[in-house]
Amino acid sequence: MMLSRQKLLMGAGVGAAAVAGGSLLGPLGAGLGAAVAAGGSLLGPLLGRGGVLTDTASRALPVATDDALPNRADVVIVGAGILGVASALYLVERGLSVVICEKGVVAGEQSSRSFGWVTNHGVDDQIQSLAVRSKQLWHGMNPWLGDDTGFRASGYVQLCTSDEEILTAERWIESLRGKVDSQARIVSGAELAARIPGASTPWKAALYQPDDGCIDSAATTSVMARAARQRGVKIVASCAVRGIETQAGTVSAVVTERGVISTSCVVVAGGAWSRLLMGSLGVELPLLAAYLSQQRTTRVAGPQGSGFGGPAAWKQEVDGSYSLGAHSLGAPVTPDSFRLLGKFLPALREMGDEMNLALTTDFFRAMAVPRRWALDKVSPFEKARVLAPTPDHGLLDKAFDAIAQEFPVFRQAKIAERWGGIINVAPDFNPIVDTVSNMPGLVVAAGFAFGMTLGPAAGELVADMITGSEPKVDQQALSLGRFA
Ligand SMILES: Cc1cc2nc3c(=O)[nH]c(=O)nc-3n(C[C@H](O)[C@H](O)[C@H](O)COP(=O)(O)OP(=O)(O)OC[C@H]3O[C@@H](n4cnc5c(N)ncnc54)[C@H](O)[C@@H]3O)c2cc1C
Repeated sequence: MMLSRQKLLMGAGVGAAAVAGGSLLGPLGAGLGAAVAAGGSLLGPLLGRGGVLTDTASRALPVATDDALPNRADVVIVGAGILGVASALYLVERGLSVVICEKGVVAGEQSSRSFGWVTNHGVDDQIQSLAVRSKQLWHGMNPWLGDDTGFRASGYVQLCTSDEEILTAERWIESLRGKVDSQARIVSGAELAARIPGASTPWKAALYQPDDGCIDSAATTSVMARAARQRGVKIVASCAVRGIETQAGTVSAVVTERGVISTSCVVVAGGAWSRLLMGSLGVELPLLAAYLSQQRTTRVAGPQGSGFGGPAAWKQEVDGSYSLGAHSLGAPVTPDSFRLLGKFLPALREMGDEMNLALTTDFFRAMAVPRRWALDKVSPFEKARVLAPTPDHGLLDKAFDAIAQEFPVFRQAKIAERWGGIINVAPDFNPIVDTVSNMPGLVVAAGFAFGMTLGPAAGELVADMITGSEPKVDQQALSLGRFA
């Protein structure tokens, strides 16, 4: 399993950060009960740090949705993030009737909060076929949908800080040969300089992927949702799914806050909420959350496309502004940290201390959430329509200073926006896309740290599984059974 700082920044590394439940065992485990018993007074110094969950405004481009809830559908999808929307697009293309139920607004949670890189670099070897397939689908997305999703094949450089990093990059390029289509190569000299004008460091070389791209995090999923509706998908917002009913063990209906939809197939693509919903059905998803912070600047004449090097990471937006990532992330301590500790321990050992353990009010918030509820009563999903952590301004200040040190042109930029987001990850950092063997008709697509990259191919895989088509990618590493 490859763990790089890039991966950490993008979120895959947050698996280990999320594991923070693990590392807290030492310093916090024994004391936690006492702290909680003491009404939180022992936690005082930790409370109020950046990165606390809050009901927040959506940053997604608003799109029209449907008012009426259909009585039945071939497939009901829980969640209108990138996974739900991409799955709907590939399902409706095959002639199925599809409804997406979204508790808040389209793309209100993680899918409008990403950094927006589309790259297979830093993605686990076992899911390279999924990542590369997804990149191919992204390249065809605008022509396919006849709309501008914001995807651009703007290229990506990973600046190498040492000869050792150059060697690592060369080895990675070699490892892909013959396995997946790859345009990855090493760049140096004038070609590299043209991509990073004004860099302070005399970078010797970089790994370059010309076919990597980026999306517009605030707009992309919304535009895809609009295209899905044009193709006949119904998207009902402010419509939380409370639970799923079965007949003789097989999915028969979805119970929402607005009524019941008869169906024989449900896709749970509920992002950070998937573990809770699946848990209520008796299906354990070993997923933990971690928080990331992002910021966007005003326009400057900075480096090209997307890139990462030393402490600096950037993504140039279509309008010439920049998104800048923060290296570090917050690992919220919740009761799930303890429940899943055993499963996440190996990841914890591998990750070391690149994590920012945070014991905040989120612990108590999580403790108050029931794990089962009656389907005719308000469920936890209706109590938080758009949930996100507050951004960690301290981290973002450091990230801004780092990039401005490498590219002094950023001193002319102003911070236009800051936001926080959650990533949910499994112990091996790979997502889960699978059917549930003891509940025919139930499909899950969750635990995505690289969901903006992987969304299209994962959505296509969901459609393949539901329609019984030959999958285009290796599904093994995405199976639920791997955690058994
Ligand atoms: C700061 C940050 C940076 C990132 N950077 C990158 C990057 O550069 N590249 C990359 O590939 N990925 C990146 N990611 C990861 C990516 O954003 C996520 O993997 C992806 O958005 C997950 O999509 P999703 O559809 O699974 O979840 P979401 O977008 O969260 O969608 C799930 C939806 O389900 C809804 N829902 C949940 N439960 C219910 C229910 N019971 N009923 C109805 N609706 C429900 C929620 O309201 C939500 O809208 C980043 C993430 C963050 C937070």
